[in-house]
Amino acid sequence: MTARRQTYTAMVGHVPVGSSAPIMVQSMTNTDTADIAATVTQVKELADAGSEVVRITVNNESSAAAVPHIRDALARQGCHVPLVGDFHYNGHRLLAEHPAMAEALAKYRINPGNVGFGAKHESQFAQMIEHALRYAKPVRIGVNWGSLDQRIMDRLMDENALLPEPKSAEDVGREALIVSALDSARQAEALGMPPERILLSAKVSKVQDLIAVYRELARRCRYPLHLGLTEAGLGSKGIVASTAAMSVLLQEGIGDTIRVSLTPRPGESRTEEVIVAQQILQTMGLRSFVPLVTACPGCGRTTSTFFQELAERIQTYLREQMPVWKAQYAGVESMNVAVMGCIVNGPGESRHANIGISLPGTGESPVAPVFEDGVKTVTLRGEHIAEEFQARVEAYVARTYSRKQDVA
Ligand code: SF4
Repeated sequence: MTARRQTYTAMVGHVPVGSSAPIMVQSMTNTDTADIAATVTQVKELADAGSEVVRITVNNESSAAAVPHIRDALARQGCHVPLVGDFHYNGHRLLAEHPAMAEALAKYRINPGNVGFGAKHESQFAQMIEHALRYAKPVRIGVNWGSLDQRIMDRLMDENALLPEPKSAEDVGREALIVSALDSARQAEALGMPPERILLSAKVSKVQDLIAVYRELARRCRYPLHLGLTEAGLGSKGIVASTAAMSVLLQEGIGDTIRVSLTPRPGESRTEEVIVAQQILQTMGLRSFVPLVTACPGCGRTTSTFFQELAERIQTYLREQMPVWKAQYAGVESMNVAVMGCIVNGPGESRHANIGISLPGTGESPVAPVFEDGVKTVTLRGEHIAEEFQARVEAYVARTYSRKQDVA
């Protein structure tokens, strides 16, 4: 793995972002921001799931007016997650007319492609930067393939046409995204914004485009980079595409914050995108959030669903316990638990985990050896294997991880 790229370190509220800070997980609400109760509920849900920053849409008067109330209601519930305002078209005006909103937000997201058109572009961009300076906020200059600044695209296409060997339109488009982000960042600096208060993103919806664009951005600047494949899509397609794109970049030390832009199915929890982002970072060994369960896929050697149910039960139990354990035990988030289906790989994989169980496959005697720190400690049998194994996990945690007050 390549060492993390060195960047400026920005502060988003109380959360540091950049080369010396952990790679941050962020998410975005899909409620109407003007609906204070619904937005507070969803922000809290996302923060409880592990989102370290939450972005909210600020698109009109009523949503702008709601922002300080949302921040205050969250604080009353003990939730101090930094809120980022997502602005398009009218951010300069909303920031001017709603000073309480401008103050309540921890960061402003500015899309140079949507900040104003024609002669208004420069002045409206400048107004947004001036508000950020007045309230001492960082900005994310977030360009997006779907709303690319057409003036830059047109200029680069004209220049490209004059080259002896013109590049493809795709290459020019990638370059236009990069130029839009970097030119806007330089413009912000020229207006007085310190470089350590600028973050960049350049989101596209195709994996190879994202990799190419971010490699180039990383080469050309020292601003922290927010990674995300935009419009990643539904379910497994969105998860796979986001993971494929971001893991290549993270492996190269590129990326300081990440978001997995999943489209939830109707009624599905928004927190899935947070869990996937955490799992990308944890499975790559970049951060630890929640103990992981290693489970075999199952095969013809284990025809019952018992081991699948146990793996699911233990994963849910670990995630539910984490808010309590995190406050009590140092290092528990890096624990590995194995739940295996039969004797072929069960004992071996269980020995490699902190604690593991090898369940009996079809035709094996109905016993389940448990391994803790590589040593077989007990053999479970009978009706209550699941409950007994869960109790042993609990006891393992209490015995193995230092109590935080002892560490302090
Ligand atoms: S551990 Fe056993 S049940 Fe699980 S996949 Fe391997 S052979 Fe199949």
